[in-house]
Amino acid sequence: MQRIVLASRPDGTPTADNFRLETAALPTPAEGEILVRVEFMSLDPYMRGRMDDAKSYAKPVPVGGLMEGGSVGEVLVSNSKDFAPGDKVFGPFGWATHAAAPASLCRKVDPDLAPITTSLGALGMPGFTGWLGLTEFGRPKKGETLVVAAATGPVGSMVGQIAKSLGLRTVGIAGGADKCALATDHFGFDACLDHSAYDDAKSLRAAIKDACPDGVDIYFENVGGKVLDAVLPLMNPHGRIPICGMIAWYNAGGLGANAQSEALTAPRLWRTILVNFLSVNGFIISNHWNRFPEFLAEVGPKVGSGEISIQEDITEGLENAPQAFIDLLTGGNVGKAIVKVG
Ligand code: NDP
Repeated sequence: MQRIVLASRPDGTPTADNFRLETAALPTPAEGEILVRVEFMSLDPYMRGRMDDAKSYAKPVPVGGLMEGGSVGEVLVSNSKDFAPGDKVFGPFGWATHAAAPASLCRKVDPDLAPITTSLGALGMPGFTGWLGLTEFGRPKKGETLVVAAATGPVGSMVGQIAKSLGLRTVGIAGGADKCALATDHFGFDACLDHSAYDDAKSLRAAIKDACPDGVDIYFENVGGKVLDAVLPLMNPHGRIPICGMIAWYNAGGLGANAQSEALTAPRLWRTILVNFLSVNGFIISNHWNRFPEFLAEVGPKVGSGEISIQEDITEGLENAPQAFIDLLTGGNVGKAIVKVG
C-alpha cells in the first residue's frame, strides 16, 4: 500500500517538500476493525490546520505521521458484524490507498442514493456543514439576503442552494469569472462577485452593496480576509454571521500575525457587532454529528434527484494529492476537491 505522511511543518504556504509518499505493508484489521481499499479521498481546508503545531480544536498531525482525512472505499476484510466485504464505506482512512480502521468510526455509503464521491462533499462533512451552519446559526427567513464566499465549494454551494430554496436572495463571492458563472448558472445564486477583480475591500464592498440593495442579513463566513472586511459594514440590524472558516488566513501560520495586519481591527469589528445587534456564532461541525441522519434524510434525496446540484474536482492518483491540496488553499479547485486513489 501507499500513503502520504507529513514530512515537515510548513512555514506559511505548504510546499511539496512538506509531504512524503511512502510504501508500507498492508495493515491487518484487529477485532472490531475493517480493512478498506480507498477509492476516493477528500481534500479539505481543515487539513492545513493539522499541519501546524498550534493549539486548536484538534491535535496536529505529528511529523512523520499519516496525513489525516476522510475517504470512501470498499471493505476488503471485516472483523465487525456491521460491515461485509464489498460494502462501500466512508471513514477516517487518511491519505492512503488502504487502511484498517475501527468499524465504529465508519459509516456505510449507499451507492444507489448518489455517486459515492458525494459522501465526501455534498452528502458528507462539507455539505452537512453548510446545511447546519445556515439553518441553525444563520436562522434564514424568506425575503432576506445572504452572502457567502467560496461559493462554488462544497460548503458555499450547499449554503447558497438551501438559502435559495428557503426564499432568500443569494449573493455568492468566488475567485474568477468562470467560478462566478458556475455559481449563478449551476448553483442558482442570484448574483456572484469575483473577489479577485477588486483590489481592496472598499471597491469589493461597493459591488456587494449594489448586489444587495436591501443590505445583508446573513453573512456565512467561509473566508475572512478582504471579503469579511467588505461585507461587515453592510450587515443589517439583527444580522447573523455563522463563522464557519477563514481560509484567507490559514497560510498565515497561527492566524494571528496576518490577521493583525488586516485593516479590519478588533475595535471596529466589535463596534459593528454591537451597534448592529449582530449574532456571531462560531461552530465546528464535529460537535453536531447527532444531526447528520436528519441532514442525510432531508438533503440525500435532493442530491440524488439533482434538485441540489454538485460540482466535483477530481485529481487522479494519490501522489498528486499534495499539489491538489496546495492548490485548494488558494482557489485552484473548482468544486469539491477529491483525489481518485484506486
Ligand atoms: P472550498 O472547496 O470552497 O475551497 C476553499 C475555497 O476558498 C477556494 O476554492 C477559494 O475559492 C476560497 N479562498 C481561498 N483563499 C481565499 C481568499 N484569500 N479569499 C477568498 N476566498 C478564498 O472549501 P470548503 O467548501 O470545503 O470549505 C469552505 C470553508 O469552510 C473553509 O474555510 C473551511 O475551513 C470551512 N469549513 C469549516 C467547517 C467547520 O466545522 N467549521 C467544516 C468544513 C469546512 P474562490 O477561488 O472561489 O475564492
